[in-house]
Amino acid sequence: MEGVRYEKDGRLHTDTAGQVVLAAGAYRTPQLLMLSGIGPAAELERMGIEVTHGLEGVGGNFQDHAVVHVTFEAAMDLEVAWTLSRLRLMARTSPGMDHGDFSASLRPPTRIEGVGTLLPLSVQLLEQEASGRIRLPSLDARDFPVVETGLLEDPKDVERMVAAMEFLRDLARTAPMREFYGAVRNPAPHEDWATFARSTYDSYHHASGTCRMGPADDPASVVDQRLRVHGLDNLWVADASIMPEVTHANTNATVYVIGERVAEFLSSAG
Ligand SMILES: Cc1cc2nc3c(=O)[nH]c(=O)nc-3n(C[C@H](O)[C@H](O)[C@H](O)COP(=O)(O)OP(=O)(O)OC[C@H]3O[C@@H](n4cnc5c(N)ncnc54)[C@H](O)[C@@H]3O)c2cc1C
Repeated sequence: MEGVRYEKDGRLHTDTAGQVVLAAGAYRTPQLLMLSGIGPAAELERMGIEVTHGLEGVGGNFQDHAVVHVTFEAAMDLEVAWTLSRLRLMARTSPGMDHGDFSASLRPPTRIEGVGTLLPLSVQLLEQEASGRIRLPSLDARDFPVVETGLLEDPKDVERMVAAMEFLRDLARTAPMREFYGAVRNPAPHEDWATFARSTYDSYHHASGTCRMGPADDPASVVDQRLRVHGLDNLWVADASIMPEVTHANTNATVYVIGERVAEFLSSAG
């Protein structure tokens, strides 16, 4: 690794540096590595890119949190401008687990003419069995990479999402929730909740894991515990892509810590 080429104000620049830190996020960091010839040989060859440093893990292990909304009829007349607390519930889909694998949050009411006032609750699944992958769309770094999220593709993930949705349905029937939450409207009780989850889920925007940290003898890992890219001595990655697993919480605070840690590693690397 000798330096970087970049475009600024319509002009191309080249800079050399003894230490290069790539921090373009879980979508763009693997894209830039692959465009630089660093990544899985098959993916680079597919795009006609010369492999300068084969690293199978680049772009793999994509993880995020899937979100599904369960919408209830309001049990009382609510102002749509109702203020909600930023309460977050952490729970587990199976009593045998030693940690929570989903979180749930309150969503503001909406009023629909002819339907009434609706109150959604949302579930965020905090673990992902089937990880996804980032692929190159072209040889142009400005093009958005192809994202295969893997979200809700593994039957276990779908099962856990449905269990979490059912938990919320049951929770809403207990006091004092039932003063506010009436019948479940969406998904309808007779509907297939797994199909509903798979066809309506959204991303919680917590993309991570696409240049995962791990030991050099693990072919799926990209950086070591000091965030240095395996096999290269002056390239670091410092963003959400290094997380081996997506956090069981929102990702931003962890990314700050990753940035602070790489600053320490760089100063001690000389
Ligand atoms: C809509 C939304 C809401 C979110 N809300 C929350 C929240 O409430 N709480 C929370 O904890 N997390 C939240 N997150 C997640 C959090 O923002 C991310 O986990 C975090 O920002 C990831 O940091 P990062 O450094 O890995 O990537 P990024 O923050 O994406 O930083 C990457 C940077 O690299 C730049 N870049 C990329 N490619 C290039 C290139 N080719 N050339 C030059 N620059 C480039 C980008 O412009 C960007 O500035 C949210 C995310 C989104 C999208």
